[in-house]
Amino acid sequence: MDRFRYSSYAQEVIFAPGAIAQVSDAVERFGWQRLLLCTNNSMQVNRNVDLLRSALGDRLVATFGRVQPHVQDIQVDQVLGLALEHEIEAVIGLGGGSPIGMAKAVAYALEPSIPIIAIPTTYAGSEMTAVYGITHSRESPPRKVTVNDSKIVPKLVIYDPELTLDLPPEMTASTGINALAHCIEALYSVTRHPFSTAAAIQGVTYISNSLLSCYQNGKNLEARTEMLTGAHLAGLSLASVSMGLHHGLCHVLGGTANVPHGIANSIILPHAIRFNADVTAPQLLPAAEAMRIPFNGSSPQLVMEAMVQKISDLIAQMNLPQRLRDAGVALKETDLPHLAHLAFQNRTVQNNPKPITDVAQLESLLRGAW
Ligand code: NAD
Repeated sequence: MDRFRYSSYAQEVIFAPGAIAQVSDAVERFGWQRLLLCTNNSMQVNRNVDLLRSALGDRLVATFGRVQPHVQDIQVDQVLGLALEHEIEAVIGLGGGSPIGMAKAVAYALEPSIPIIAIPTTYAGSEMTAVYGITHSRESPPRKVTVNDSKIVPKLVIYDPELTLDLPPEMTASTGINALAHCIEALYSVTRHPFSTAAAIQGVTYISNSLLSCYQNGKNLEARTEMLTGAHLAGLSLASVSMGLHHGLCHVLGGTANVPHGIANSIILPHAIRFNADVTAPQLLPAAEAMRIPFNGSSPQLVMEAMVQKISDLIAQMNLPQRLRDAGVALKETDLPHLAHLAFQNRTVQNNPKPITDVAQLESLLRGAW
């Protein structure tokens, strides 16, 4: 790697158990007076909304508490109405990638755009990126479109591991594998650079140390803290490089077949690593080392196979689906050629380090994952 180029963003990131209590001071420093909160029901049930409300006091002037998955355009219109009515100066996304995506969609639609505060409670990584997806639900079939603009990078990010103690085991597992996949694809990205590689290797170390412990005992604050640190590093690397085959396929599976993002990640990741291994093994060896896979003089290909096995074992231990037929959606084996065609046209898939020159390569991968 003798040349590289990437965008980095000015964000204030605060990470600490109990960090939610610092949100008020941070907002004061930025001078934002009128805030709108986007969140969903689970954050009200587990009282994370109450914690935020008591930290912000009168500054929190409006709340939209029922954000649905995948940022629905109809809901964006409703939240925009609230933002205009209350003359909002900044918008908060509290929860997983969906409420943070909603905050981004609202900030982006306003003219001029307004700053975003992201308070993540899953490991999906949206808080660090300049991207969101919006689902155009009035179209048939509904279409998820990606928007990429530096205006929507959250200005303030609060990571509080205590807010993740209630994250259910399945969401812990699936969004944790999503974070691991961000690191893996950053390591072999065609736009990788020294900083993304350093962040991704350290991310793999933290995630592989802590994810299973978080799954087995969600209240383990030490493991939750380590896992959220890994997710932060995964989000940082995701934000500064292009992803490849794995993420492109997961987006097609989510947008077209409704496979939840984390579940798609758990099914596809071992297949994507194996598919790419003959080209990407040199970049993934540090990840294998971070996962404590013994090398014992083995060839890079064998180390990659051991890594695939270790990730598959982790996915199985966390009871995540490992086959597309078990994804819990109305997907048929006869749909696979169509999905392969869509994926072949996907820009992220085409950014894969191992060239995808024939749609049959994708169909064969999907059949292997079926
Ligand atoms: P999500 O935000 O849809 O949340 C899934 C479920 O987990 C919800 O029911 C939510 O209520 C629950 N939940 C979240 N945190 C919880 C907690 N601490 N305690 C209890 N329940 C909790 O899921 P996600 O996987 O975080 O995000 C997926 C969305 O984010 C997708 O639309 C995906 O495309 C997008 N995404 C975007 C980026 C980006 O860079 N823009 C990155 C990753 C994912």
